[in-house]
Amino acid sequence: SYDELKKCTNNFSDSNEIGSGGYGKVYRGMLSDGQVIAIKRAQQGSMQGGLEFKTEIELLSRVHHKNVVGLLGFCFEQGEQMLVYEFMPNGTLRESLSGRSGIHLDWKRRLRITLGSARGLAYLHELANPPIIHRDVKSTNILLDEHLTAKVADFGLSKLINDSGKGHVSTQVKGTMGYLDPEYYMTQQLTEKSDVYSFGVVMLELITARQPIEKGKYIVREVRLVMDKNDEEHYGLRELIDRNIRNSGTLIGFGRFLELAMQCVEESSADRPPMSEVVKAIETILQNDG
Ligand code: ADP
Repeated sequence: SYDELKKCTNNFSDSNEIGSGGYGKVYRGMLSDGQVIAIKRAQQGSMQGGLEFKTEIELLSRVHHKNVVGLLGFCFEQGEQMLVYEFMPNGTLRESLSGRSGIHLDWKRRLRITLGSARGLAYLHELANPPIIHRDVKSTNILLDEHLTAKVADFGLSKLINDSGKGHVSTQVKGTMGYLDPEYYMTQQLTEKSDVYSFGVVMLELITARQPIEKGKYIVREVRLVMDKNDEEHYGLRELIDRNIRNSGTLIGFGRFLELAMQCVEESSADRPPMSEVVKAIETILQNDG
């Protein structure tokens, strides 16, 4: 309840810090009914204040979906802004892909994670009222629950970040380098298709385990180059596949998955599929696996 959340300052201590990001620090805490929660404490001045902020947060806390990290509430105390979320015990997708979390994601698991997060985004785009553009889709914003179910986090928040906020470019365009839709960057016209572009980058991460930009190279460009070469059996492509899945038998639907990822990162947003189509395509791959 809101009253409980109001007391949230009393329910965590700095020793429970679990991470930090664009808005400030993240802590683990517990509500009095025992529910474990993640608390985001905004850094001074990193978030816009005022009525607009409250209205927006109230809107976001009304979104409920299996593949969206629930915003349980918020509290404002002594000039601080805190957002309270359900706690995701298995951390971010990025941590798993980098091997830091000790969780091995086999190909089938990666397909399920793709499907889950695509469903979450499709929900935000098409079913949430009003529709929500995430604006910052990336592998550190896809969290894994106790069953390794993927949930999309931080939706809609990036527009509330002040330009001075750490880790975000200080222009009108907000998002994360390497995931940013080039068309949005050029035109500053934000649509759902910008999320689709970022999601395509995440799909390439699931194939390669690489970061979107490594040693100055963009993963999107790397994969495109290899595919354009069209050498026999895509030898170069094989080299790009994450070692952890490369030698573990057939990767079901790999060709279709890669094709879909490349459609998502098309330069022109009109050539990208809507999230609902991404969902259907991944469902088909998983169904064909008997
Ligand atoms: P960023 O701004 O880079 O997206 P966040 O502020 O969202 O980072 O989160 C920072 C870190 O806190 C994440 O990388 C993750 O490890 C952890 N975290 C965030 N939200 C949750 C949550 N709901 N449950 C568990 N851990 C979380």
